[in-house]
Amino acid sequence: MILWKWFLHLVFPPRCVLCNKVLDKELDLCRDCRIHAPECQNFNLKRNFIDSWLALWYYEGKVPGSLTLYKFRGRRSKAQGYGRLLAMKIQERYPEGVDVLTWIPVSRQRKLTRGYDQVQLLARVVGKQLRMKPQRLLKKMRHNPPQSGIESAAARRANVLGVYRVTDPGKVAGKNILLLDDIITTGATASEAARMLLTANAKQVHFAAVASARREKNK
Ligand SMILES: [Zn+2]
Repeated sequence: MILWKWFLHLVFPPRCVLCNKVLDKELDLCRDCRIHAPECQNFNLKRNFIDSWLALWYYEGKVPGSLTLYKFRGRRSKAQGYGRLLAMKIQERYPEGVDVLTWIPVSRQRKLTRGYDQVQLLARVVGKQLRMKPQRLLKKMRHNPPQSGIESAAARRANVLGVYRVTDPGKVAGKNILLLDDIITTGATASEAARMLLTANAKQVHFAAVASARREKNK
């Protein structure tokens, strides 16, 4: 077992989740990225139907390249680094914990073409760190065009309206729920997913993502 691990380490050395540099003793981030990553720190921006939210980084610098490899080039191992870092931030922000951990799923069609649901992978790692089993609470009912190709906020809201259904309302009612996604841009997708959870009588919906595409102004 130890020999096997040593061999794996040799063939697949641990790499920085952002810049891909081989790591020596660091975990998940190289020294440079730990210092210079565009850490997201201001969560004042109001998101409809979401009680509070956080993200690890702004979608700047090395973050877009890293997430592109994760989402579109099959680098699913990045879920480990993102998930561990995100779990640490979640623990800092919600020391009391939440009742249920869930994620915003991709459509069946997208999962088939990509081969994986990148947010479900992330939820598994976050769940392992928080000692919570992620619950599948939402289902995507139709394959809508990607939000990234739509400019106006109203069109983005319309594009996601009604695309999610709550699969297990019994696990939602009265609960504080933490909802995960990879990126939050205008928040239309997160708000729509949260709206469905609140309609199923969730007590509160909190949200966490790897990256936030908007740098909000200090208030
Ligand atoms: Zn790095």
